[in-house]
Amino acid sequence: MAAFFADTARLAGGWARNVRLEVDSAGTLSAVTPDAAPDGAERLRGPVIPGMPNLHSHAFQRAMAGLGERAGGTGRDSFWTWRQAMYRFLDRLDPDDLEAVAAQLYVEMLKAGYTAVGEFHYVHNDPAGRPYADPAELSLRVVAAAQRAGIRLTHLPVLYAHAGFGGTAPGEGQRRFVTTLDRLLAIRERVAAVAAGDPRVRVGLAPHSLRAVTPDELTQALNALAVSAPDAPIHIHIAEQVREVDDCLAWSGRRPVDWLLDHAPVSPNWCLVHATHMTDAEVGRLAGSGAVAGLCPTTEANLGDGLFPAVAYGQRGGRLGIGSDSHVSVSPVEELRWLEYGQRLVHRARTLLASPDDGTVAAHLWRTAAAGGAQALGIAAGELAAGRQADFLVLDPDSPVLAAARGDGLFDALVFCGNVPAVRDVAVGGRWVVRDGRHDAEDPIRHRFTEAMRRLTA
Ligand SMILES: [Zn+2]
Repeated sequence: MAAFFADTARLAGGWARNVRLEVDSAGTLSAVTPDAAPDGAERLRGPVIPGMPNLHSHAFQRAMAGLGERAGGTGRDSFWTWRQAMYRFLDRLDPDDLEAVAAQLYVEMLKAGYTAVGEFHYVHNDPAGRPYADPAELSLRVVAAAQRAGIRLTHLPVLYAHAGFGGTAPGEGQRRFVTTLDRLLAIRERVAAVAAGDPRVRVGLAPHSLRAVTPDELTQALNALAVSAPDAPIHIHIAEQVREVDDCLAWSGRRPVDWLLDHAPVSPNWCLVHATHMTDAEVGRLAGSGAVAGLCPTTEANLGDGLFPAVAYGQRGGRLGIGSDSHVSVSPVEELRWLEYGQRLVHRARTLLASPDDGTVAAHLWRTAAAGGAQALGIAAGELAAGRQADFLVLDPDSPVLAAARGDGLFDALVFCGNVPAVRDVAVGGRWVVRDGRHDAEDPIRHRFTEAMRRLTA
């Protein structure tokens, strides 16, 4: 039970003044009242906005960020050569390393304004490719890191069985990922049991991609989930690379988004990550499904994927959210900025991802990505309203970035002005995780991370 009082807060209908936020013992907003009196509530020290869900993360890749940018070797560097480097990196990562890297990453997320994360977790086995004594070992390390940092977690254990379309045998580099459906379901159960009673953790499921699971395996996984957890979030990598689309066409005669929509019951609890390469017809079909398109603009740029057709998708009412994926950037500001800038560069026009429902471009981007991210993670968040989680950010009223901004202009200043973080305090489930730009445990967490990085890169 806690109560907060904000001079100004962005509610669903717009900015409100003198807002009292009441939080129950589960971390849910029990009342959000504008034009209220403080009445002993804790006073918030700046404008308040909803926290941003980060719908796509591979935590271990935080340890590789910035280390894969050297040109050279033979042939052209691409997503596929980067992936080889990623496989080699995984030869070393042990459970302690993963926990250290994930904890550091999650602290960075919170300080940047992400209050929840969808962890698309596919490293299940030891470096030799054997399951750990507890097959959920690495999943539980992710959960422990999230709990230590205090970020809300939707854990998405990944079904990964094959190297390519048509059930080709996995390669040596994929030995840490490969698992059976039974083992994966056991991992799901184990994580759910360990995290039972923690309202900040929930568990979904992720068939890795149409490359890594066969149609039969996909159907079996969805059937099993429909029995045990029918409303659980389902995430899948879908059409990140042109070669992936070409291979899917060669295998099935259909493009990946079309194939999935033809063969799976895609609904609002699905998230299609990297729906980058779509025809106009696929754009309309995906938007009509109610599923969320999971966009990771900085990673998609870093890997040379291509650009998502965000303008056409938005015109058809498609839902979207953002993720930091490979963590070359850990900032909702930068993801949203590049989501809009990518479209400006292609269309040679400005203020493209806007809506008459919101005062400004960035207000629209923030609101839609927060709502879509929450939908994708299966959490009641992304908006400050009774019944939603008390996950919010207090912007720094002293930041020069925000000096001249008012109302929805605050979002524009946040997203399109400068590179100094303007997030001051962060609450998850009504509990402070960042105060005055600092996380309580950031020093010991950074120390463990630095030690792990020294070992991993020795
Ligand atoms: Zn991914």
